[in-house]
Amino acid sequence: MGGLSVSARLIDGAGLAARIRAEVAAQVEAMKSRGVAPPGLGVVLVGDDPASAIYVRNKAAACAAAGFHSVQRNLLATTPQADIIAEVEALNRDPGIHGILVQLPLPQGVDADAVVRAINPVKDADGLHPENVARLAMGHPAVLPCTPAGIMEMLHDEGVPIAGREAAVVGRSNIVGRPVARLLLLENATVTVCHSQTADLGEVTRRADILVAAVGRAATITGDMVKPGATVIDVGMNRLPPPQPGGKSRLVGDVDRQSVELVAGLLTPVPGGVGPMTIAMLLKNTLRAAQAAS
Ligand code: NDP
Repeated sequence: MGGLSVSARLIDGAGLAARIRAEVAAQVEAMKSRGVAPPGLGVVLVGDDPASAIYVRNKAAACAAAGFHSVQRNLLATTPQADIIAEVEALNRDPGIHGILVQLPLPQGVDADAVVRAINPVKDADGLHPENVARLAMGHPAVLPCTPAGIMEMLHDEGVPIAGREAAVVGRSNIVGRPVARLLLLENATVTVCHSQTADLGEVTRRADILVAAVGRAATITGDMVKPGATVIDVGMNRLPPPQPGGKSRLVGDVDRQSVELVAGLLTPVPGGVGPMTIAMLLKNTLRAAQAAS
């Protein structure tokens, strides 16, 4: 972060996630050796959205690698809402399942809030149940949503000062923007939340010691919008079409890496930054629920 650096240091989210997953696996091993059942994750996937299928496959593979028990309920896109809720309730009752995840988005016509509300808050692996959202908003212990929790772990691991610092969060979704803003506030940052109607985005982001971009649009944050030496967390996952026909598509974040790298002190890459941390935190949430139940 010194004045001599010409390029931001990249935060190795993939490496930290691998360390966390190894710690989780070791704890699962210890549970098994004491004769305690391993953590169990139940995943409900409705419909055939290809991106959702990939996310669920990655989560299942991470569960298997950590020694978890995992079950997956694949339901047709036409499944009535009541039947989806019945699957969630069956997982609520299953003592071998400690974490439940309903892969979002759900097909049109299904009330996602109603389905998430059906999850037992204690088994809410994604931290999206209104009871956990309220607990976080009130500063009480809660199951935290995975991506925001992963962002905080990265900041802690890097020793980034938070208390008393200016933080800007761009995006206000229930999955990322709002909860990460609440977590930064709980750790005594001065937090500004920006969104599509923020009048002058750059004016806010240039003040930020910690800048979190969770928008879903490539190059939303450019170098001129970043305070020199700032920590920039790029949550975005945007797939760009191949530069030439027949080429490969490219995954980029919300941050224009080329220009921001010259100004920021720390930056999370895409891929390899926030994404791997999200899965690591899902495992951690499920492990904690299993430990609390045993
Ligand atoms: P949403 O679409 O739910 O929210 C996007 C937010 O960005 C909204 O609050 C919107 O404002 C705001 N926004 C849109 N355009 C602008 C703009 N020009 N200036 C300022 N704010 C703007 O997205 P998510 O929060 O679900 O996801 C954001 C990104 O993060 C996506 O790329 C997604 O794929 C990625 N993601 C990555 C994860 C990971 O593990 N790495 C996990 C989850 C998401 P408004 O509210 O006014 O509409």
